[in-house]
Amino acid sequence: MPSRFTIEPRRSRSWSTSVVVAPGALDRAAEQLARGRSGGRVLVISDTRVARLYGGRFVRRLISHGVGATLLTFPAGERAKTRETKARLEDRLARLGVGRDAVVVALGGGVTGDLAGFLAATWHRGVPWVSIPTTLLAMVDAALGGKTGVDLPGAKNMIGAFHHPVSLWADVRLLRTLPTRVFRAGLAEVVKTAAALDAGFFADLERNSSQLARREERAVELVVARCLSLKGRVVAADSREDGLRAVLNFGHTAAHAIEAATAYRVPHGEAVSIGLAVESRLASRLTDLPRAHAERIEALLAAFGLPVRAPRRLDRDRLLAALRRDKKTRAGVVRCALPARIGRMPKGPDPCVGVDPARDLLPFLERD
Ligand code: NAD
Repeated sequence: MPSRFTIEPRRSRSWSTSVVVAPGALDRAAEQLARGRSGGRVLVISDTRVARLYGGRFVRRLISHGVGATLLTFPAGERAKTRETKARLEDRLARLGVGRDAVVVALGGGVTGDLAGFLAATWHRGVPWVSIPTTLLAMVDAALGGKTGVDLPGAKNMIGAFHHPVSLWADVRLLRTLPTRVFRAGLAEVVKTAAALDAGFFADLERNSSQLARREERAVELVVARCLSLKGRVVAADSREDGLRAVLNFGHTAAHAIEAATAYRVPHGEAVSIGLAVESRLASRLTDLPRAHAERIEALLAAFGLPVRAPRRLDRDRLLAALRRDKKTRAGVVRCALPARIGRMPKGPDPCVGVDPARDLLPFLERD
């Protein structure tokens, strides 16, 4: 059974994202693009690996429907999520003479969505984009919510824009080609969503952890739909992360510091897993998260085969610098979004708690 729903902000109609979660959604996206086209060019952006697997087929399908479509590629991996890659893609758009009537399609993982969405946000001051996530991480999290952007060498997602995709097509069949390690990395964002927002969902994950670890397609599809619906509610209430939306940053203060301190060698999902374990332990001290809840979060991550300890010998200065540069930092105070219980963040408009990075976080991140 496909899931279909639309996410739009509660207080305005300034954007909306229609969401389809279904096997075969990739082909339906092509048909929809052909039906809705206004004559402008469709620019499909993928990293080289996804382009080989799905990009060529998708573009041929668009062309067979009479759509003028071009596939643009960039090297796979977080290290390509830069201003330089965006500039190279923009130069190609300029050479192709792409105008304001273009539509950008991000076909790929979270890196592709962030990069292509940001390109769409700034090309001719903003053209529409369509999100077709191909990793579990992107399906459950990155593809929805309109946060787009690129990294600086020592700081994640430092340059970007809010620009929501007009539609999101999650086709779990595309996950069949995903390496196990990349699939698992996506489960970290699933654990985050459940631990921050929905205790019942968290208990379901505990019950179904082996089906999910085995990648049973129906179980995965249900998890994707549930995560998108939960994230959708948060984003609809707080599109620009003025308050509540920061709950989705649980685990991410530590995660982004690990990524920056290792020059992005630790993949985002694995850094999030370590960050969730670290910040859960911190929450048992700072927000009274019961110790048993912190242990359940760590146990679920471990059941999914995810790392829960920081890599050895992280550079202290790089960690501290990255923690201080975190985007949630206010007036020099580093902040973490910490749950009060599994499925519940602290009450009030701001879910973040001020921490002293050297005292509170470094002891969990520094290992000999
Ligand atoms: P990714 O996009 O680099 O994909 C991981 C790897 O999987 C790449 O090598 C890619 O080529 C490969 N791949 C993708 N789909 C495949 C498929 N179907 N079959 C085989 N291989 C495939 O990384 P990711 O983990 O998807 O995303 C991480 C990024 O997402 C980070 O940059 C993170 O900051 C960002 N993110 C953004 C948001 C947001 O709200 N915008 C939220 C969470 C994460």
